[in-house]
Amino acid sequence: MQHIDNYDFTGKRAIVRVDFNVPLNAQLEVTDDTRIRAAIPTLKKVLSSGGSMIIMSHLGRPKATEDKYSLKHIIPTVEKHLGVQLLFAPDCMGPQAAELSKNLQAGQVLLLENLRYYAEEEGKPRGLPEGASDEEKKVAKALIKEKQKEFTARLASYADCYINDAFGTAHRAHASTALIAKYFANDKMFGYLMEGEINALEQALQNPKRPFVAILGGAKISTKIAVVENLLDKVDQMIVGGAMVFTFIKAKGGAIGASLCEEDQLELARTIMAKAQEKGILLSLFTDVVAADAFAPDANVQICPATEIPNGWLGMDAGPKTLEAWEKILMNAKTVLWNGPAGVFEMPAFAKGTHKIAELLAQATAQNDCFTLVGGGDSVAAVTQMGFANKVSYVSTGGGAMLEYLEGIELPGIKAVKE
Ligand code: AMP
Repeated sequence: MQHIDNYDFTGKRAIVRVDFNVPLNAQLEVTDDTRIRAAIPTLKKVLSSGGSMIIMSHLGRPKATEDKYSLKHIIPTVEKHLGVQLLFAPDCMGPQAAELSKNLQAGQVLLLENLRYYAEEEGKPRGLPEGASDEEKKVAKALIKEKQKEFTARLASYADCYINDAFGTAHRAHASTALIAKYFANDKMFGYLMEGEINALEQALQNPKRPFVAILGGAKISTKIAVVENLLDKVDQMIVGGAMVFTFIKAKGGAIGASLCEEDQLELARTIMAKAQEKGILLSLFTDVVAADAFAPDANVQICPATEIPNGWLGMDAGPKTLEAWEKILMNAKTVLWNGPAGVFEMPAFAKGTHKIAELLAQATAQNDCFTLVGGGDSVAAVTQMGFANKVSYVSTGGGAMLEYLEGIELPGIKAVKE
């Protein structure tokens, strides 16, 4: 594996996997260019070091060629931030892609059309008839895997070196994120974004300043079990929020009214609480809640103890006493990792807890030299909306990828470059 700072790009063509999977509005304009801006340092580095570049990405989840998922829509935004006019290959496998990449001159940039127009990118069969037999599925799977090899080899043939800067898809073993790396045994490296993400996560997980606090929120405990279990070996304290807290509270015998609860996870919640106690880790649940009589923005609201939510009422956010307790924990922390909202933050009446966390993290970063790492779409949206994105130590660009990293899994996109 090479390092982007030491690699000699002079006269070389770099194929760079970025995550330009950005939201577009009805007019097909980019509405949030965060992911594009995040990749710019890597792209500029290649160009300023005498190289040329082929950029590849996916956009959305097309099932075939679909104009609304064309990467041509993002060209003006990339050009604006990169300061270079792009060449565009309207088919990542077509003759134009090969021709344009072959003739690239130093300083030129070629953008390939959406990789996911091809099923080969993900390596999953498409268009299987409903009710296909297991045998048919097996054959289709084998066929697409075979075709994926050709697809990957063709992408690799466009370039002299490979850069993976797409943290958001690093947890997928796709052609452009992992498989392609083996074609560049001595000429593969991470981009700056990928490196920054890995460093931030490693700083928190391997060498945290203590106390190390994790805040986990969101809808379901079942999607975060592996994260909770892995983090119990690393953190000093864990704050649990979101809807998943009610599974814990019920498991402890609390009355949670009509709050979201995963009945089939109650036993697991008990096991996790016992494990935390055994390890001496403080698991901080809600003590009080903002409860509502309906899952609606204009519902009637009351504050009540988290273990005494009236029948028919739902816990929607952390209550004021809970937030006070969190403030003490967070203002004492030296490392904080946050993934998942504290409540139904999409509705202003239930956004206080999530906003308070964002505010406390900004404060802890500034006042206590606390290392604060925020990931997951909702938490990132909260810190961004509140103008705190630059006031925490690191905002991750990858939701699913970050969660898998936190589970202790070596992500395929990272492994393939390191190998
Ligand atoms: P996740 O995708 O698992 O991180 O879950 C995020 C979602 O959890 C957000 O849409 C929140 O509105 C939702 N959520 C958070 N707290 C609650 C709650 N108390 N009841 C229902 N949904 C919640």
